Amino acid sequence: MSYVDDVIELVVKQNPAEDEFHQAVKEVLESLRVVIEENEEEFRRNALLERLVNPERQLKFRVPWVDDNGQVHVNTGYRVQFNSAIGPYKGGLRFHPSVNIGIIKFLGFEQIFKNSLTGLSIGGGKGGADFDPKGKSDREIMAFCQSFMTELNKYIGADTDVPAGDIGVGGREIGYLYGQYKRIKGLSEGVLTGKALSYGGSLARVEATGYGLLYFVDEMLRSNEIDIKDKTIAVSGAGNVAIYAIEKAQQLGGKPVTCSDSTGWIYDPEGIDLDLLKEIKEVRRERLSEYGKQRDSAEYHEGSGVWSVKCDIALPCATQNELGIDDAKTLVKNGVIAVAEGANMPTTIEATEYFINNGILFGPGKASNAGGVATSALEMSQNSQRFQWSFEEVDLRLKTIMENIFHEVDNAASAYGFDKNYVIGANIAGFEKVVDAMNAQGIV
Ligand code: NDP
Repeated sequence: MSYVDDVIELVVKQNPAEDEFHQAVKEVLESLRVVIEENEEEFRRNALLERLVNPERQLKFRVPWVDDNGQVHVNTGYRVQFNSAIGPYKGGLRFHPSVNIGIIKFLGFEQIFKNSLTGLSIGGGKGGADFDPKGKSDREIMAFCQSFMTELNKYIGADTDVPAGDIGVGGREIGYLYGQYKRIKGLSEGVLTGKALSYGGSLARVEATGYGLLYFVDEMLRSNEIDIKDKTIAVSGAGNVAIYAIEKAQQLGGKPVTCSDSTGWIYDPEGIDLDLLKEIKEVRRERLSEYGKQRDSAEYHEGSGVWSVKCDIALPCATQNELGIDDAKTLVKNGVIAVAEGANMPTTIEATEYFINNGILFGPGKASNAGGVATSALEMSQNSQRFQWSFEEVDLRLKTIMENIFHEVDNAASAYGFDKNYVIGANIAGFEKVVDAMNAQGIV
């Protein structure tokens, strides 16, 4: 059997019941096959792939906390420090009831290549807890965050591991986590990113993933001689990534007409009213059904259905595996020309292949949503300098980084004879830098 197949089999055997992790490893290693096979014996002798798919360290810990009625709860916390070959571990924390070790490992593994693609010196990691922030009071959120950090602080630091937000972890949670870190360690350092401006945050970090996604899409379309102007865009999600993807899409002249949350979705043929969406999601923290009630032009539907809407561009920005093969068939039938992932692994492997085989331009998340982590790394730079750059300066760097990522990915795909296959291109371009660094540092 080939080395790639051996390692895929090993990962499935050694990590039972971690389906998302298997999926991520298969997706990456399949695209690296062409690179590995050029030098298979050397890669095998150095056990390069075994070292790549095994985290350097994975932590699992108890998180006890007390609710407003005096009831004690116990959740499970995780931090997977996957690969530090090119810099300190960097990757978000996710608080969601679906979190388990397989999900954190899939996210951490993807993060290695994404961080490498940014061109900045950051390794890959990810963490989180199976805690559900929905419906919790502010005090309960604070109690949970403080307990989580009471354990996590032992393993992180500005030069070792710098977590950020992800699903369920926004500015409020980062604030509580940072406060507890500082209280325990007595250090004011850039140990977390996504901080508020008043204590070391970066301008444009909140907008970065959504804006970055659109900078990537715009560059991908332009290089294929397509103008984003007046294109109808279907977006899923209504969180941090989705909201700022919608904002930048509107600024670039596109027309986003959908968004969704875990209970339902909106179709607004006149275009999403961004002020209303922000008010509902960022200020009042309500369900999307409120948007339907308050806007005459909008239809609200229970469940999922965003991908049934006819559109030119589809941007999945909610969660993993939210766009399957049937959705892909519907989108292609309805004439979609480009799909780009705002979320991590929102498209299943079958759906991704279907898009590529049908000539749809497909931006994989590790490239197209790298703007968030890239701006986090810019926040780390500003913290080290004890200095804050202007919004315009950060935004310009973000735009340049995203355009560079697109061209690196495009070039890597062409160099190996897979023109316009940005999935293969992203995996190869991300992998090459990590492998160089791993080889240079010996067997560690
Ligand atoms: P948020 O928590 O801000 O928003 C997530 C959105 O997706 C919410 O609207 C949520 O609805 C919806 N959602 C979550 N889980 C499900 C589900 N199982 N089914 C349907 N809808 C769901 O998270 P972000 O916007 O920050 O993250 C979204 C995605 O982008 C994730 O995959 C994340 O890993 C990825 N990402 C985020 C980055 C960032 O900087 N924030 C950077 C790179 C990637 P509800 O509120 O009802 O749960």
